[in-house]
Amino acid sequence: MKPRLLDAIRERPLLADGAMGTQLMLAGLEQGSCGEAWNLTHPERVLGIQRRYAGAGADCILTNTFGGSRIMLNRHSNGDLAAAVNRAGVEIARAAFGGRPGFVIGDVGPFGGLMEPYGEFSETEVREAFGEQARALVEAGADAVIIETQTSLEELLLGIRAAKDAGAPCVIGSMAYDVTLDGSTFRTMMGIDPERAAAFMEEHGADIVALNCGTGMDMKRARQAVLRYRQATSLPVMVQPNAGQPKLVDMKVVYDETPAQMCAGVVPLLEAGASIIGACCGSTPEHIAAFRKAMDAYAHQTL
Ligand SMILES: [Zn+2]
Repeated sequence: MKPRLLDAIRERPLLADGAMGTQLMLAGLEQGSCGEAWNLTHPERVLGIQRRYAGAGADCILTNTFGGSRIMLNRHSNGDLAAAVNRAGVEIARAAFGGRPGFVIGDVGPFGGLMEPYGEFSETEVREAFGEQARALVEAGADAVIIETQTSLEELLLGIRAAKDAGAPCVIGSMAYDVTLDGSTFRTMMGIDPERAAAFMEEHGADIVALNCGTGMDMKRARQAVLRYRQATSLPVMVQPNAGQPKLVDMKVVYDETPAQMCAGVVPLLEAGASIIGACCGSTPEHIAAFRKAMDAYAHQTL
């Protein structure tokens, strides 16, 4: 039997992958077009990116299905492809490991709008879209499902429930925090702080609490979040910070933290107790390779 993700992180911390969106752009995806559809139309390009992450030493690869819910796909008139896009996403991520052991984490991003009464989407629509996506990911063999870049507990809960109802072997809830203007703390756009998110996720049956993306959430802030999560919950913690702050250069968003700069934050994250470390926007296979070295050196030193 293949090892379960939750068993594996009791043995050692795991390395996840880096950004997909910014890598898809480098591979020729136009800004604003549907990157998830590439799972069907250009699977070799998605595989090429994920193979580089596997080659860099990632233990976990997130599927290219961030915007793979029917509601998000509908923006590109691809809603009816939802199940196929998600199944293919799992198959490509699995293939990226080239037969070696590795964990495929099915990625569920925000549905991209607001729910009633603030927005135009009913809770039922969102529940059904997340349910369809989570079922496709689990049926295709995902080792875990991550509900990521979440800012509200209502949407997070719909995602967690969808993943659990689909029978996901492991459910990860991941919040996007923004550092406050005065720099004193961080919370999500909807005002949720890490303690509240962690307690909420534990109460609703998530297996791992996580953070990803956000604004100003560098490796140091991620470490603070790990410590705060661990004060609030005994669940394992996963982090995927961005490669620094986004900057606008020639009308393009650029993340300029180098692998060496980001990598300096890896050991502090391990010491704080992070169980899975990856990276979000702007990170590359080179960042992940540097993380691998740092994690291996740390494991060797603490043997
Ligand atoms: Zn990000």
